[in-house]
Amino acid sequence: MASLDSALIAIERACGSGSVIRDPSLLEGYAQDESETEPCMPEAVVRATSTADVSAVMKAAYEYEVPVTPRGGGTGRVGGAVPVPGGIVLAFEKMNAIQGIDKQELTTRVQPGVILGELKRVTEEEQLFYPPDPNSLDSCAIGGNLATNAGGPRAFKYGVTREYAMGMDVVLADGTILKLGRETKKGVTGYDLTALMVGSEGTLGIVTEATLRLIPKPESTVTAMACFSSLDEVAPVVSALLAQGELPACIELLDEEAIRIVRPEAGLTIPNETKAMLLIELDGEEARLETELERTGNILFDLDALEVLVAQHSGERERLWASRRELSHSLKRQAKNKLAEDVVVPRTKMADLLRYCAELSERHELVIPTYGHAGDGNLHVNFLWDDPDQKARVDEAIESLFRRVIDLRHWSIESAVSSAGTISGADCATGKDQGRLRSEAHPEPG
Ligand SMILES: Cc1cc2nc3c(=O)[nH]c(=O)nc-3n(C[C@H](O)[C@H](O)[C@H](O)COP(=O)(O)OP(=O)(O)OC[C@H]3O[C@@H](n4cnc5c(N)ncnc54)[C@H](O)[C@@H]3O)c2cc1C
Repeated sequence: MASLDSALIAIERACGSGSVIRDPSLLEGYAQDESETEPCMPEAVVRATSTADVSAVMKAAYEYEVPVTPRGGGTGRVGGAVPVPGGIVLAFEKMNAIQGIDKQELTTRVQPGVILGELKRVTEEEQLFYPPDPNSLDSCAIGGNLATNAGGPRAFKYGVTREYAMGMDVVLADGTILKLGRETKKGVTGYDLTALMVGSEGTLGIVTEATLRLIPKPESTVTAMACFSSLDEVAPVVSALLAQGELPACIELLDEEAIRIVRPEAGLTIPNETKAMLLIELDGEEARLETELERTGNILFDLDALEVLVAQHSGERERLWASRRELSHSLKRQAKNKLAEDVVVPRTKMADLLRYCAELSERHELVIPTYGHAGDGNLHVNFLWDDPDQKARVDEAIESLFRRVIDLRHWSIESAVSSAGTISGADCATGKDQGRLRSEAHPEPG
């Protein structure tokens, strides 16, 4: 405790009076994140205002051996922002400036506390686009995104945060300040320390500024919802689209249980017999989108889609996405307990994984809603239960899930070729069902 007090005195001296928060009612808000990790109250929170502040905090913490947990929006799903007992939280809500957007170089310079949704809005006003889009975008911060290498639905086409991080200022555990990376488009020599830092979850250093790559904003976007009567029908869709040269911005999958939850909120009428659903977004040049949508629709119908519904305006699109973004929280309300696992398999193995989740649900008599980024083979497998006696079965099912995921990840040329071959180009390119896309003619809300 004496070292903690000494560290906090040194920090307040360096960062200014009021920079250290010790009021328990305020500390409570920093005790947990969006994971199921047990909350832990920090001893103090420091709201940094500059790289120099962060350096001073780390120097003092290093000297007095006090653990520090950096925190962005606190939306992490693995407990990374939950403080270490006896430690302090370094919070970035005051370091939230978008310091500039360079329209010539297609870059932006930001502080770590910038909320991702805000950066998206501001860059889009300049007709530019920052693609990483975790579904927490209105509450997560850039520092947290860099630390977790955040992905999101559009990672399928545009990649994850690492692909947009060009350079950054970081503070090491002893307070040393480093400038990493580049400001220029090309920068090929030397170790890529920026890439190393991205995804390191605050264990290697603390990001205090970053230069991010932007791309031109896609001219237009269209969102469609494809409904299927079984999960098995959904599995080959991604390979089929890619085989036909289609690259949607995202392909999100929802199983029957997840559909039941989004159904009242989705805005579009989902047919009753739907057991699996894909949310597909295409973006690009307006003139080409209609043809792409038609081709995509044909592929989906050739794979036995019951219905392909197209959102007619931004309000309808936003409503669909809002129901998808809210899904994780909505699931939490379905049972007393929820454990969400986040697993990835080669996308050609998605069918096996989906089948296995259904098998686990039956074998362990558990509700296991599953949804995720089908384009990346990334599924969120959720275990819901009310009765504490069910927990042992949940643990057993989770262990089996991980074992199966590891098995499915073993690379096998033979299985990759045969899975990709399940849909032949000829099967999908018939175009015989042109005009089968259905749009619900809801008027644009006022
Ligand atoms: C509804 C919902 C949907 C989500 N969807 C997705 C998704 O689609 N894809 C995805 O990838 N994630 C998703 N997430 C998880 C989460 O939003 C992301 O991991 C996000 O990047 C975390 O950002 P944050 O600012 O909230 O970080 P926090 O939770 O505050 O912190 C995360 C980690 O980063 C560290 N950290 C924070 N700031 C810094 C910094 N400046 N320097 C160094 N380390 C730092 C923390 O110590 C911690 O280890 C979702 C979460 C929710 C609640």
